[in-house]
Amino acid sequence: MYMIACFITVDDLMSEAFEVQLSSSLLRTCLSARTLLLFAQGKDTFRFLREPPSSECSSPEQCRIRPARILSFSLARKRISPLAYFPPPLWTELLNQHFCPSCLTEARREYEDSRRRVWDQLPEIFGLPSWDELKAARDADLAGRD
Ligand SMILES: [Zn+2]
Repeated sequence: MYMIACFITVDDLMSEAFEVQLSSSLLRTCLSARTLLLFAQGKDTFRFLREPPSSECSSPEQCRIRPARILSFSLARKRISPLAYFPPPLWTELLNQHFCPSCLTEARREYEDSRRRVWDQLPEIFGLPSWDELKAARDADLAGRD
């Protein structure tokens, strides 16, 4: 459902020619989740771009200005991917060039923390029980197969 909510266009989801036909209930869940994932991306995934420079920053003026450029670039991509918005190649190509080493370390830590926060929210975003309840149901299902 995460992949559908993030990467399939609404036009494709609504098309009768699309290879996967979702029930109206599942379609509603995915479209609602898409909005919530977009909010989570803005609030959590991009949070490291709003943080002040590290207390050990070696170039405070640049580390204060450059994240705004990255945020502008990111918004122009029009991509929903709160769990993997900045994959390793993008860190190397884009973000490593825009932060001093201290700020880069803090930015990466904050980005990884934000991914965990989004992960923790996923069941609620998709209208599902908590991760603990889902894991217990999975374990019970697996135990029943023996
Ligand atoms: Zn810095």
